Amino acid sequence: MRFSSVFGVLALTLSLSACGESNSQHTQNQVSASASALQAHLEFLASDDLEGRDTGSRGHEIAAKYIAAEFKTLGLQPAGDDGTYFQRIKFRRSFLEENSASFTLNTGDDTVELAYPKQFITGPSAYSEHDDVEAPLVFVGYGLVSEAFGLDDYAGLDVEGKIVVMATGRPEHLPSEEGAHLNSSKAKFAAERGAVGIITLHTPEREKVRPFEVSIMYQRAPSVRWLQPNGEPNVLYKNMAASAYVNTDAAEQLFVNAPVKLADIYAQLEAGDMPKGFDLGVSARLQRSSRHEEISSPNVAAVLPGSDDNLKNEYVLYTAHSDHIGVTKDLSQDDHINNGAMDNASGVAVMLETARMFVESGVKPKRSIMFLSVTAEERGLLGADYFAHHPTVPLSQIVANVNLDMPVLLYDFADVIAFGSTHSTLGASVARAAGEFGIELSEDPMPEQAIFTRSDHYPFVKKGVPAVFLMTGFTSKTEGEDGGEVWGKFFAEHYHRPSDQPDLPINYEAGVTFTNINYQIGEEIANQVERPRWLPESFFSQLD
Ligand SMILES: [Zn+2]
Repeated sequence: MRFSSVFGVLALTLSLSACGESNSQHTQNQVSASASALQAHLEFLASDDLEGRDTGSRGHEIAAKYIAAEFKTLGLQPAGDDGTYFQRIKFRRSFLEENSASFTLNTGDDTVELAYPKQFITGPSAYSEHDDVEAPLVFVGYGLVSEAFGLDDYAGLDVEGKIVVMATGRPEHLPSEEGAHLNSSKAKFAAERGAVGIITLHTPEREKVRPFEVSIMYQRAPSVRWLQPNGEPNVLYKNMAASAYVNTDAAEQLFVNAPVKLADIYAQLEAGDMPKGFDLGVSARLQRSSRHEEISSPNVAAVLPGSDDNLKNEYVLYTAHSDHIGVTKDLSQDDHINNGAMDNASGVAVMLETARMFVESGVKPKRSIMFLSVTAEERGLLGADYFAHHPTVPLSQIVANVNLDMPVLLYDFADVIAFGSTHSTLGASVARAAGEFGIELSEDPMPEQAIFTRSDHYPFVKKGVPAVFLMTGFTSKTEGEDGGEVWGKFFAEHYHRPSDQPDLPINYEAGVTFTNINYQIGEEIANQVERPRWLPESFFSQLD
């Protein structure tokens, strides 16, 4: 799971408590998840021996082999490459070369050298080893384009061959999921209009939630991209050879010749307005060198063939990421291993139990079920993205994705939150499945996190596959227990830390309920006559 470091802890300071009062009986299906099986899977996958399952590590390879062995034990068909359970992916890790980044601003009268990393930071290029771009700068507001929301920050501007300068983030009036999607499409909007680089402005508002100093601290992390089978990196916009994130005093210098004062732009941003773009009347030369390294890591895929002659060519896809963030570099701690018990050994355990339930239910589903553990989620949803681009079954035949990521199984949850449920007909299936186990369906308690765009279902959503992703809600069936508090405490104290490990007080009975619901959702989708579809009014029904 990848939470935004910008909003991160803020969400948790809100007290998200409510009273759960669902007390309906579990409907006893013929088949149920087993608490001890969930525990066995989780304890193996989150053991110290797997060393935090970092993408490309030996520990993650062992996790992948374990998952494949379980699939084989269940008699599932291999659905990876060449008749195996594995879809091996090559990745390029890119590092910015020390002291290679430079940013020279030419204002016409003057040449100014910006200081790295004090005034600007930049990442490595996954595409080329040396970049050297000189071009005029054009301010483009937030750099957003959306017909649905009537936005075009590029209207009337010519950015062909130029470097665009944009404010970080997005205006608050956009709904969170749609806003997050548009925010992640900024490079695409710029590239489609011929821009050769992007300079993003840090703003006083952003400084309040994430100081520039913090961005400096995090910028040394390598970037990871998957490689096409031909060895080319998955870099969508090769003409974009320059990028920089500049602090507010560097921004002042970019605006010396601007027709509008930077202070006025900040005021517009703060008021929730969309500032209009203009030529900045300056040019810049950006240079950097990058070093590349290749690693490989597998997705693991298996299929339970459907029973219906026609529908068996369609697939319900379960996904759960098997990777985590590996070993921490903070040597001040005794425990260095980020075990990822909740993130996401628990999701994989739920998926393995779901697979067993389908096999042992005695009734074959009409549609086929695919189980896919994906790698490199923590590096940017990369394993899922690779599969969405190189599916081992036709993507158009994947009717739905049920994603499992970081179910926090630490309390007797009385409700679930189903991200994506308001966008497609899957919402109805989720409500029925949860209802069967006496679990309520709650609204998203932290819309600002835009979680719908933050896990492995999202690359499938972008390809048009309706998806749903369940999280344990913030109410508890246990008297006196505040589910939101337990969840928030996990997030604040254990999320992405060595203490997310099997000695947490894991409630495996809650895991059983969570698994049963996710099984039920897939079972209904697999057997219903009509395939799921996006609701026509959903923004995600019309992505290109
Ligand atoms: Zn995570």
